[in-house]
Amino acid sequence: MKNLVLGIDIGGTNTVFGLVDKSGHIVYKEEISTFGQEPVINLLNRLKEKIDVFLKINSDLDLIGIGVGAPNGNYYTGVIQDPPNMSWGDVNIVSMLTEKFACHVKLTNDANAAALGEKKYGRAKNMNDFVTITLGTGLGSGIFTGGVVLYGHDSTAGELGHLSIDQNGRDCNCGLKGCLEMYVSANGIKQTVLNFQNKYPDDLFLSSLDPNYIDGKLIDMAVDSGTESAKRIYEYTGEKLGFGLAQAASILCPEAYIFYGGFSQAGERLLRPTRIAFEKYLMHNLRGNIEIIQSGLPQGQAGILGAASIIDNF
Ligand SMILES: [Zn+2]
Repeated sequence: MKNLVLGIDIGGTNTVFGLVDKSGHIVYKEEISTFGQEPVINLLNRLKEKIDVFLKINSDLDLIGIGVGAPNGNYYTGVIQDPPNMSWGDVNIVSMLTEKFACHVKLTNDANAAALGEKKYGRAKNMNDFVTITLGTGLGSGIFTGGVVLYGHDSTAGELGHLSIDQNGRDCNCGLKGCLEMYVSANGIKQTVLNFQNKYPDDLFLSSLDPNYIDGKLIDMAVDSGTESAKRIYEYTGEKLGFGLAQAASILCPEAYIFYGGFSQAGERLLRPTRIAFEKYLMHNLRGNIEIIQSGLPQGQAGILGAASIIDNF
């Protein structure tokens, strides 16, 4: 029998899951709609049906554990706590899955899962202190310090997205002002584009953007063709990001910040101005010591590998 771990990455729209072998190879992968307005048991039933069919055909494979990454997933309690964009309230997904699959189940939040995946299979294999940053609708982060994930006393540590970089800045849903994710995320860039459109009403490129639907690729293409106002969007975003990362570096002193997710596809267009700002705002003795790089995990697999990595000793 060959042992496998099931990694489940629950997102607001889709849930991606896959069976992973010891070497990090995904032998089976599926993506289904989460339907967050329906009871969570419906999602788990649909998921189990697919896994059962696969394992029945491949009777030489044995499922020995399940790792789940989910928004607001609490590592200590096994409860997904009132996840955004879903009407589940608090659900103890660990006990539900244990009952269904009769194997070892563990949960963490999606950002910590990304950090675990990077440590086990990605660019952080030889690092004990690093931070992964997920750039999507918001800004998520997972922190490794001294070789273990930083959970804090109730599992909510590591929210760099809500590090305030300006106490008089943009309003955030968390109740604070100037949170990093209000500048560095799809939503943040949307607000920046709106501000720039008001500031530079005659700019052709800015006027061509629909602030309700910002496509990162359009900005990337404009940067590549030398459009100044497109470069300015990433320079502004990189300045805020670099400042935030420098603040966190004073506390964590990581070896690297590693980037994932939709907007990280901008790559060097965003990371270059970020590095410039980062070095400028770092205290002297940290300068030149901390890398800002992109994830080494294949896009679309990071969530599954990360969730699967929560299962220890595999
Ligand atoms: Zn906030």
